[in-house]
Amino acid sequence: MTKTYDLGAEKVRALRDVTFDIARGELVAVMGASGSGKSTLANLLGALDTPTSGRLEIDGREISGMSSDALARLRSEEIGFVFQQFNLLPRMTALENVMLPLLYSSRGRAGGAEIARERLEQVGLGHRLDHKPTQLSGGQQQRVAIARALINDPPIVIADEPTGALDTRTSYEVMDLLGGLHARGLTVVLITHEPDIAAYAERVLRFRDGALVEDLRQRPRCAVDSGVAQ
Ligand code: ADP
Ligand code: MG
Repeated sequence: MTKTYDLGAEKVRALRDVTFDIARGELVAVMGASGSGKSTLANLLGALDTPTSGRLEIDGREISGMSSDALARLRSEEIGFVFQQFNLLPRMTALENVMLPLLYSSRGRAGGAEIARERLEQVGLGHRLDHKPTQLSGGQQQRVAIARALINDPPIVIADEPTGALDTRTSYEVMDLLGGLHARGLTVVLITHEPDIAAYAERVLRFRDGALVEDLRQRPRCAVDSGVAQ
């Protein structure tokens, strides 16, 4: 895939001819300096954007030529997205934030509040359902965001610098959660520039100036190594 942003006078080649596969159930870290194309890649893998040229298949489906409706459906059913800045709605409670994607889901599930409550319990926030984002710590806000990403049971989670706004200890808590999703069989793509965080992955894709420069398999750090999983 290649992704070029067209700014009129200038074209930014954010991704240059990158080729790779991610297998179902992998936990892959995407590393690289600021500006190397990581978020651009996250947006493509999350079907938030389409490549300028080349092909992208998600679960065997070619997404490059999909209509925006079809892309929205694919995102809603297959992909949970986690952002560095949490992206929670400030006026809504934790429970309401987690329920939000159900509004756009083609399934429009009944019993949404019950499912949202379960998801919040899964991330250890069963006692914070009615708190607004400002009443939660950064780590708790990110856990709400992870619960929201999981509301439709997606097989794929894409996290773009999920620990970038968190302190070290809280970062490990969030990584233990993401590692737990991987252990349950989800495919997790973790964008990070922190080696400590990439250590959780079994594979690291490294980008430089929009090019894929390294594809490394490694022995992942075990979730309990951080000492906060218990
Ligand atoms: P990273 O997440 O690794 O910091 P990005 O994917 O955000 O990198 O950016 C890669 C390059 O593309 C940078 O040069 C950035 O300035 C540029 N870029 C990113 N998004 C846009 C956009 N929407 N329009 C124009 N240029 C962009
Ligand atoms: Mg980025």
